[in-house]
Amino acid sequence: STPLALIAAVGNAARRGIVIKGGASMEACSRATTVLLDKTGTLTASTPELVGIDAFAGRTEDEVLRLAAIAETPSSHPLARAVCAAATAKGLDLSEPEYFEVAGGHGVLAVVEGRQVAIGNERFLALRGLTPPEHVRQAAERREDAGHTLAYLVEGDTVIGMFGFLAQPRESAPAVIAGLRKLGVRHLVMVTGDRSKPAEAVARRLGIEYLAQATPQAKLDEVQRHQRDGQVVAMVGDGINDATALAAADVGIAMVSAGAEVSAMAADIVVHGDHLGRVLTAARLARRGIRTIK
Ligand code: ADP
Ligand code: MG
Repeated sequence: STPLALIAAVGNAARRGIVIKGGASMEACSRATTVLLDKTGTLTASTPELVGIDAFAGRTEDEVLRLAAIAETPSSHPLARAVCAAATAKGLDLSEPEYFEVAGGHGVLAVVEGRQVAIGNERFLALRGLTPPEHVRQAAERREDAGHTLAYLVEGDTVIGMFGFLAQPRESAPAVIAGLRKLGVRHLVMVTGDRSKPAEAVARRLGIEYLAQATPQAKLDEVQRHQRDGQVVAMVGDGINDATALAAADVGIAMVSAGAEVSAMAADIVVHGDHLGRVLTAARLARRGIRTIK
């Protein structure tokens, strides 16, 4: 039977917005020596700032923003939320896409007003056989030099726009990192689908290692690499692109706000709401709960 101390710890966690799916999850969480953390939406704010728009192929910035916002309407991705918030703030006339599909770790595909659009990173373009023309590449370079996270907007097979985002680490991030170290976590690594420059900026400010341009498969590989190394691995993530890594980790911790249920299903511990601090609370409660029964 489940020791009373564990039941108490699970109840205690639940009152703090943390769902621990059983004693084994708590056990693994209490022993974690490696913690891998997703960047966008986990270590950084759930809504990054859209800081710039480029329009190409004769479009205006408003046209580009409006089309992207409609395509991103069903998406819970932080970049999607930022695009939609910017379009709403500008009072643009929005609707729902006729078709919508997530390409995890890359972007989204949609049909908007009969037009085929895609929004995503450079790899997403490459997968669709697209190489951005020179003027787009130059604009991308300028944004990358400024440390922006990028998303390209494609209609048919023409790049018609580009977005630059900036996201700061959450205010709670340094304390969460310090707290995890104090609990005995030896390896802290940020794993992100974003490119090196924005990844490095966040990782350096937090004093942790990072792995950039990580596909969902690369995030999974990183979990397994640490496991082969004898580490007990916790993975913390928020998105569909984190689901396989969450499932493979010794303990998967999902930060879940509305719309990201896939990661909640793949996880062992679910932190509700937009609270990174609850990840540390979960680790502390697990440690305490397990110590009590030993
Ligand atoms: P992270 O691993 O940091 O959470 P993701 O894997 O979710 O980042 O995304 C990696 C990159 O893919 C983003 O930096 C962005 O360029 C692109 N991308 C992913 N999803 C979207 C989306 N919904 N809209 C625009 N771009 C996206
Ligand atoms: Mg993410």
